[in-house]
Amino acid sequence: MEAEMKRVAILEIEKYSQELNKVGEEIWNNPELGYEEYKAHVLLTDFLERKGFTVERSYLGIKTAFTATFGHEAKPNICVICEYDALPEIGHACGHNLIAEAGIAAGLGIKAALEANGAPKGRLTVMGTPAEEGLGGKVKLIEEGAFNDIDVAMMVHPCPHSILEPVFLANGKFKVTFHGKAAHAAAFPWEGINALDAAVLAYNNISVLRQQLKPTIRIHGIISNGGVKPNIIPELSVMNYYMRAPTREEVSELKPKLISCFEAAAKATGCTVDIDMNEPPYEDMVHNKVMTSLYKTNAEQLDLTHIEYTTPCGSTDMGNVSHVVPAIHPMFQIGHDTRAYHTREFTAVANTPAAYQNTLNTAKAMAMTSIDLYVTPDLVQQAKQAFNEK
Ligand SMILES: [Zn+2]
Ligand SMILES: [Zn+2]
Repeated sequence: MEAEMKRVAILEIEKYSQELNKVGEEIWNNPELGYEEYKAHVLLTDFLERKGFTVERSYLGIKTAFTATFGHEAKPNICVICEYDALPEIGHACGHNLIAEAGIAAGLGIKAALEANGAPKGRLTVMGTPAEEGLGGKVKLIEEGAFNDIDVAMMVHPCPHSILEPVFLANGKFKVTFHGKAAHAAAFPWEGINALDAAVLAYNNISVLRQQLKPTIRIHGIISNGGVKPNIIPELSVMNYYMRAPTREEVSELKPKLISCFEAAAKATGCTVDIDMNEPPYEDMVHNKVMTSLYKTNAEQLDLTHIEYTTPCGSTDMGNVSHVVPAIHPMFQIGHDTRAYHTREFTAVANTPAAYQNTLNTAKAMAMTSIDLYVTPDLVQQAKQAFNEK
């Protein structure tokens, strides 16, 4: 049965390939920042509604989140996730336009397969999750209960390489504000307290700290406000920093070390400092072994292969989801010549015919994996068991 259902899903994705690629292109052409993905939200929800899904816009009060559901039986409820936020200035440099396309393409394929075969029961939820780039759309959705009725969740992400179990680190985020005192920088410098100096010292403190840390740890930041004019001693400076490590515990160990770096810089310069950690922390990604193995088999049937790759790929709020329900987050290759994402080169690659083709092929693998889970509910139980053991 599942072979026939998989065939139906593949044909459905191919049938609508042009329309699906158009959605990907349209999102690429209109890059929107986290929680401001209004155009993408309309585009994706209208598309899914036209295709017969029951759509809930602004899901759980989150303006640019949505769900599109299909199926009569509540269990198993399989969730395919879309992301669609872009980065400031460099557009879709993380290729989330393709994640959105892969999500709705897999959704179409799964729905067609379920419709063609009345036997397997279950529900499909295509979930639109805004603001992955730092603001934690999925963290908010988890808090609001979006995953309470979900059995398993999956998404795919474009990358220069195809990786089955990419390493995503847990993280924590700082917004640090130094307060000093303005003065004429040439006439009365002794009257000033230099907030930019505090930021520079903090930056250097952290750079020195870094050499004593494990190679699996990442700390990086920017000075987002360093003053307004050279002839005014800066009275205010702002830094944004991320710290990342393989586990939440290691991130917790890092936290006081960074705080010391900020506080020492404030003390040395006579500034005061406010340390804000309000942006939601991300958890490390736990790849569900049962689901990964199904995905791998299906991908290989489509001639999609993966490389071994253990260097961290960053952090994702899908990590938080993977601590709530069994989940996978494979990376799929686009752009043979690009070496990294969050680059202008990757933005360009994320809007090429080859990238759209790979997106749809990867969507087929997701649809096939879901079909395995619908047809053999015991696999869902096995996935949950593996989740609980973790
Ligand atoms: Zn990104
Ligand atoms: Zn991304």
